[in-house]
Amino acid sequence: MEELPISPLASPHPEWRSIFSQNISIHQFDVELHSIIQKIIDGNELNESDGLLLFHHPSLSQLGAIAWGVKHAMYGKNVFFNSNVHINQTNVCVLACKFCAFRRGAKSNDAYEYSVEEFVNELETYKDAVDEVHTVGGLHPDLTIEYYEELFTTVKKRFPHIAIKSLSAVEIKHLSQQSNISIAEVLMRLKNSGLTSLPGGGAEILNDEVRAIICNGKESSQEYLAIHREAHHLGIPTNCTMLFGTIETPEQRIQHLIQLRNLQSETNGFQCFVPYPFLQDNTRLPEAQLATGQEILRMISISRIMITNIPHIKAYRMNIGDHLAELALQYGADDIDGIVQKESIMHSAGSNALLELDNTMLAKLIENSDSIPIRRNTTYDRAKPFIKPEIPRIIQLPVVQG
Ligand code: SF4
Repeated sequence: MEELPISPLASPHPEWRSIFSQNISIHQFDVELHSIIQKIIDGNELNESDGLLLFHHPSLSQLGAIAWGVKHAMYGKNVFFNSNVHINQTNVCVLACKFCAFRRGAKSNDAYEYSVEEFVNELETYKDAVDEVHTVGGLHPDLTIEYYEELFTTVKKRFPHIAIKSLSAVEIKHLSQQSNISIAEVLMRLKNSGLTSLPGGGAEILNDEVRAIICNGKESSQEYLAIHREAHHLGIPTNCTMLFGTIETPEQRIQHLIQLRNLQSETNGFQCFVPYPFLQDNTRLPEAQLATGQEILRMISISRIMITNIPHIKAYRMNIGDHLAELALQYGADDIDGIVQKESIMHSAGSNALLELDNTMLAKLIENSDSIPIRRNTTYDRAKPFIKPEIPRIIQLPVVQG
């Protein structure tokens, strides 16, 4: 796969606030939004009441216009994507989060764990089409730090062009407990074996009362933040996420955004924020409120407006589907995941997003939202406009009258 050039294309414009200020016509917005727009221009952080005002504001289109204005000031029409494959190393998990349709008990008929060789053979199938492997899985009682060291070393040796975005915070915690070593040592050993970044899954809602109900036994809110803080200190960039539409309140969603923004102010190690809704199929959370399409777009807009220090907001098409992902690009998202050749976790919970999109089809989806497709690498430091290949015109043969 073609190596991308080093490029600042995927960084926000350094003067984006001034561009936003010039482009936005404040008086076209309801008066209660004026102070929020002014705070963005002045570089003042939005607080919880600002977030709740956005959450309850009746006009989604006005929220979308502010979020799009921020996104446009940062990146113009550029929208970023990369080419990746999701390979889940195991579905065996010692926990049983209520929203999870993916995990299996060790004795289940369809429980599995890949050996290093099986994993590498699976990746071999996609090696020419991807430059990133996204690897998360269950908390397997027997897969140790040594397994991951061997796995990452082998992947890097066989496929040096493929970045390894792997292991969520709870998997890092699990490895630390299993091997009786510190979080820092786990991260350092994995980095030395080829780990590029952490994907950010597992944040769910950073509120321990909610977590005790939907994902009992998982890392606490503070542990999630501490593991990401440690990764950032060790030079490992990470993403962060939010799972909404289970049982949380609007206040808890906004507090979640503020906690991530605060950590980013401290470390500057988050690359991308990925807000996504709960999908219900095959899960055990009948009391979930679920999120409508409008609410998904609203959360993406609020995320862009409130968290301006995390560079990218992702439309996660594996979860929200292609149609909504296309709209999300007009509501503040600047990044879309991606050319995903294979994905299991969201598809177990009911996602019907198409897999095996090629670059050209994804570029078309991006262009449909009046945006310019930019292919990027995992760490956003290499990027290049994606030029769609010419599709040969069909030449019509003359009709011969018989
Ligand atoms: S979400 Fe992760 S930790 Fe929770 S049950 Fe599923 S695989 Fe296990």
